[in-house]
Amino acid sequence: MKRIYLDHAATTPVDPAVVEVMVSSLKDNFGNPSSVYAEGRTAKKSIDAARAQVAKAINADPREIFFTASGSEADNWAIKGIAMKNQAKGNHIITTKIEHHAILHTCQYLEKHGFEVTYLPVDKDGLISLEDLRNAIRKETILVSIMFANNEIGTIEPIREIGKIVKEKGIVFHTDAVQALGNIPIDVKDLNVDLLSVSAHKIYGPKGIGALYIRKGLPIDNLIHGGGQERKKRAGTENTPEIVAFGKAAELATEHLETNINHMKTLRDQLIKGVTERIPKVRLNGHPQKRLPGNANFCFEYIEGESILLSLDIIGIAGSSGSACTSGSLDPSHVLLAIGLPAGMAHGSLRLTIGKSTTPEDIDYVVDNLVGIIQRLRAMSPIDADNPIDSAVFDKADHHH
Ligand SMILES: *Cc1c(COP(=O)(O)O)cnc(C)c1O
Repeated sequence: MKRIYLDHAATTPVDPAVVEVMVSSLKDNFGNPSSVYAEGRTAKKSIDAARAQVAKAINADPREIFFTASGSEADNWAIKGIAMKNQAKGNHIITTKIEHHAILHTCQYLEKHGFEVTYLPVDKDGLISLEDLRNAIRKETILVSIMFANNEIGTIEPIREIGKIVKEKGIVFHTDAVQALGNIPIDVKDLNVDLLSVSAHKIYGPKGIGALYIRKGLPIDNLIHGGGQERKKRAGTENTPEIVAFGKAAELATEHLETNINHMKTLRDQLIKGVTERIPKVRLNGHPQKRLPGNANFCFEYIEGESILLSLDIIGIAGSSGSACTSGSLDPSHVLLAIGLPAGMAHGSLRLTIGKSTTPEDIDYVVDNLVGIIQRLRAMSPIDADNPIDSAVFDKADHHH
């Protein structure tokens, strides 16, 4: 059966052109990039070329790009590296309630080691308030980390405005741009960011390779200690094939950025229109306009996201009910709770994320089938959808599952 993959925020299929450069690097480019002989020099050359490709995708200097083993490592490095470097200056960090767990759990870890963290709230659309940010800044604040775009609800934060406020105060600014790369134009020079995390597998590259942009001259401690790789900032023999693959993926994402954005936006709007017009008691989560071009996130009253997912999977459609880290547990999403949804509703979410090879026919198929699936699940639900109930009651009913 044909599969329709609509979980591009979780990971993307690897582009065939990326596979090609990765396989040929694996086969022909085995030298240790630190070695001085020809095999080493060839490997080093290919890494330098990839570094330039990733740098170009965010308008950075290649010397500001440091490869890591994942987006999560880049996030950990940014937070812990700045915290450790600036302990003498202060112990306060500002972030948001809707960050990826790579940020949230790192901040919670630092709280156990003497740091204080402010988790900024968001409004019903998932946006932080610049006023809240200004008010949260103290003289001990050493770092502000706010994500570029949210992986669950797709909301895009006002990064340039945030950067301006943070820069005026002389504080270091990090943004997790893992969901932004390939979906929003990124220009680190224009944005006033000091640190920015990216990951290859969200842009049609392989899993297990990421990068941290570190603004030239910014003092930061190392996370991984050892040899002198990555200009003495990140130890470990370079993962040449994956770095080369990341470079190719970044190049493709940059070259086709506008085309991809327009394509995804058109299909996203087709999906949102179809679902909200044809299915009753549905809510679109995230900002209606300031959202990722491929993201649609819905709550269907009275039913669990997990049951929708299973029904979709049977007919060949892959989606998500929140972030990959929370599915499998019945914990409601921290992002949906932060936008003010009651816990019952936060269980009932469905995230569908469109990619560059999604077609209008795929979307038609999904909407047509979703109409029936929701009807059927609601008919089976212990809660009678024809008898409106308040969300407090809905909450209670939900806890019996
Ligand atoms: C996927 C993701 C990460 C983690 O990246 P990995 O390479 O999977 O570790 C971090 N932040 C956001 C917003 C993400 O979507």
